[in-house]
Amino acid sequence: MDLKKVIRDVPDFPNPGILFKDITPLLENPAALEDAVGRLTEPFLSRKIDSVAGVESRGFIFGALVAARLGVGFLPVRKPGKLPRETFREEFQLEYGASAVEIHRDALGSGPRILVVDDVLATGGTAAATGKLVQRAGGEVISMAFLIELAFLEGRKHLPGFDIHSLLQY
Ligand code: AMP
Repeated sequence: MDLKKVIRDVPDFPNPGILFKDITPLLENPAALEDAVGRLTEPFLSRKIDSVAGVESRGFIFGALVAARLGVGFLPVRKPGKLPRETFREEFQLEYGASAVEIHRDALGSGPRILVVDDVLATGGTAAATGKLVQRAGGEVISMAFLIELAFLEGRKHLPGFDIHSLLQY
């Protein structure tokens, strides 16, 4: 299936100059969702993964579905102030603005081998911060998997040493 057909470009959202990749048509389409999750999961079926970490908010959707396919648990990487127990926090620059992400300090109880999942790799700031969080919590980032890579933003440059997978490149 050509998943690019179910991803809508929305110009100037949320800020002028940003071409937003709207994945809601993909989510609404059962065959597309099945295909996307299957292809995101496939490279990791034969690798030992202890948990999937997904980044709020759209990384929760794909991350949790990938975790269920792999038969492992899901670790939410959240915006500040949302997680109830003690956390690690990493600040970073976004394609539009600055932000921070947090993970529970004791999140890696199922083991250290973590797959990071998000919908879009843009500048790489979110993924780099997430990788640091996993490492601070005692984990090893086995790989990072994205539905969409905005290759022209060169996010991979912010992720040296990480194994990066993406299904769709723009
Ligand atoms: P970045 O930290 O720049 O790699 O941005 C990645 C995060 O921001 C992802 O969690 C995406 O959901 C979101 N994001 C950034 N740019 C876009 C875009 N052009 N379209 C849709 N989502 C985006």
